[in-house]
Amino acid sequence: MEDKILVLKDIKKYYTGAQAVVMGLAGVDLSFSRGEFVAITGESGSGKSTLAHVLGGILPYENGEMYFRGSPTSHFDSLDWERYRRDNISFISQNYGILPGATVQKNVVSALLLSGMGKREAQGAAEKILRQVELWELRRRRAAKLSSGQKQRLSIARALAKPAPILIADEPTGNLDAENSAKIIDLLAQAAKDRLVILVTHEFPEAEDLATRHIVLRDGQVVTDTPLRPANEPGAIRTPQRKKRSLSLYVAGLQTGSRPIWATTVAAFFALTAFAVFAFLGVFIINLDDTSTYRYDSSAFPNGSMTRIIVSTFDAVPMTEEDYAALAAIPHVTAVETNGYVADVNYAYRKGVDYETSFVQYADNPDVDMAVREVMTISKDAPFLQTVPVLPAGRTFLAEGRLPESFYEVVAAPGQGRVGDSIHVCLYNRAYSGLGSYLWLDMTVVGVANRGQGLYFSRDLGRFVIQMHHSGLKDAIFLPQDDMEPGTFLGSGTMARELRFAESLSRSFPILDPKEGEPTSVMLTTWRSTNAAGEEEVAHHDLSFSRLVMVAPADFDALTWDTPSEQVSLTIGDYAYTDQVLDAAQKLGFIAASPYRLGATKQDPELAAERMQTLQICITALIAVVALQILLLRALFSVQTESFRILSNIGLTSRTARASVLWQMLLFTLLGQLVGGAAVWMCGCNGVKRIEEMLRYLPPANILLLCGVHLAASLLAAVLVIRGMEKQVYPLAGKNRDLNMEEGEEAL
Ligand code: ADP
Ligand code: MG
Repeated sequence: MEDKILVLKDIKKYYTGAQAVVMGLAGVDLSFSRGEFVAITGESGSGKSTLAHVLGGILPYENGEMYFRGSPTSHFDSLDWERYRRDNISFISQNYGILPGATVQKNVVSALLLSGMGKREAQGAAEKILRQVELWELRRRRAAKLSSGQKQRLSIARALAKPAPILIADEPTGNLDAENSAKIIDLLAQAAKDRLVILVTHEFPEAEDLATRHIVLRDGQVVTDTPLRPANEPGAIRTPQRKKRSLSLYVAGLQTGSRPIWATTVAAFFALTAFAVFAFLGVFIINLDDTSTYRYDSSAFPNGSMTRIIVSTFDAVPMTEEDYAALAAIPHVTAVETNGYVADVNYAYRKGVDYETSFVQYADNPDVDMAVREVMTISKDAPFLQTVPVLPAGRTFLAEGRLPESFYEVVAAPGQGRVGDSIHVCLYNRAYSGLGSYLWLDMTVVGVANRGQGLYFSRDLGRFVIQMHHSGLKDAIFLPQDDMEPGTFLGSGTMARELRFAESLSRSFPILDPKEGEPTSVMLTTWRSTNAAGEEEVAHHDLSFSRLVMVAPADFDALTWDTPSEQVSLTIGDYAYTDQVLDAAQKLGFIAASPYRLGATKQDPELAAERMQTLQICITALIAVVALQILLLRALFSVQTESFRILSNIGLTSRTARASVLWQMLLFTLLGQLVGGAAVWMCGCNGVKRIEEMLRYLPPANILLLCGVHLAASLLAAVLVIRGMEKQVYPLAGKNRDLNMEEGEEAL
């Protein structure tokens, strides 16, 4: 029995349908050797194909035993059958079993590679075989474009390319004319020199001259088995050294490479799903943060700008220039306002822009003191007082002019003034609004900034205002006067007069509360008073601060802090960077807070509802996209089933097939994410609001999450695609258990 490569003992094969069980083979006893060229004939339905498939390890048998090289096969599991087919069987079917999308050459080379041959060796062997079947000239043509005779020759070339000891051809000449049929039979006869060749045909005459044996089947049984001539004496068969390498990537390339339109469609689909996943999940993630549903309440910090971060030292240690530089160097910080505190205590109004004044005469007023009334109307959104900031290295602040060098010089933001302009400014202390601590100053614009809004005052002024605030109404406040001699104090008027002036104001005019936010009219009254010399004079309201003392600039420096503040304000490029900047400032050893966050405490139900809706839409869309991706990919990949079947016949293992699907999914996913990501980016750059927001606010680590979710959906789809493919291409998988059970029953 050892010289018999295949021996069949009482092989039975049933087809179990929904209604009935059909007998495919009804007890077949046969044995075959290498060197034989066996022709199997019989009427249609007699079981020829069934026998061919059982011999080829493609269909399982239910009864009896098939011995391969003397060993039984009934205990084979799906993996054993896979190996059996891979190493021993070349199968040629009526419908060619070639890859229509691949070239003639690639068809043969792929078969050689799958049989374990090295790449270079495969190229050489392919040429030899293609010359043999007269297809070398057409090697670059796509297989789909061949005539049916050429296709069948190619399928034989593929079968011959595989160094398997058994070649089974199931009606290979079915669609061919006599001439082409003769060529095929001739090739098969040559192949039988060192193999077992089994030819199933319904045209026995065409094989009669070359076959060594003729078997006739009827109703699944052998009717006659006739030797025609002696079989060839086969030499030792060359068993190829299987290289231990993965062909899955090669198969993935073969599957996609031969289908350019399909590949483009799938790639576009992946790009689409990547885009959708990125967009919907991204928007979902940024909406998880409900900060934007809160309304700002200015009770803690009047300046609750979303892009402001307050930084302070521990224990009120003043900041140094190095501290400023370190803070300015934090990524996304665009400016450091060293007198940041001024924004929380003061506003700066510009006459004609933020406030208007008008005069009312009271000629017949019985109150002798009140002769003239000035009405000041302040605009709703007055700017916060700000001073010239420290910028990160490499950034410029000025578009024109220079920085302020004295107390009365100012830099205007773009469009807010030109160099040389005179501006009348009212500085207003909100903390002491009821006590009239405001200050009117005539400022000169010396520079124009390239950023921001309003006016940037000198740091000296900022320092002065903070000092004014801290000292309240108890101590003297020093105001530098450029034209004063060092050592002299006080300007026009007297401290006494100033005091009276302020007191009367405090009684008469509760100046607007900025928290109300409405345009407010403020009445200022010009007072007549008597000075120390008894002369009557009209107090003109340059200043209305009670403890104000004019000093020379040098004295100002000596009398006020020359140490900087312990608190600064950072301006950040976007609210999105809040967390990053807070972290960075804290790492530098400071206390940092976002006044917007601390002050945004009242949730707006409308905004909250809108956010909920956005979340719901995003999650629904996301689920829909993922489900669609899984379903559509199953359909899209079903076009590969046929090629997988063909490849499996020439030795593609289910493991490699699975891996090749995974590879394809991975590569398409990656490509899709690149294209989809680029599309998201472009939408963001072109002003699609939600996406623009998302790109800015999405923490960078979450990009990985977006890619991960898209990949997970692809992998889920891959699992389904693989299951579907395996069911159709590897029908033997998982059947073994049933076979064993039946055997067990019989034994009982
Ligand atoms: P042949 O190739 O000689 O024409 P087959 O081997 O294809 O014959 O078929 C043998 C018998 O098995 C026929 O009765 C056929 O109807 C039946 N048969 C073949 N394939 C199937 C199948 N997949 N399901 C059910 N019955 C089948
Ligand atoms: Mg058939």
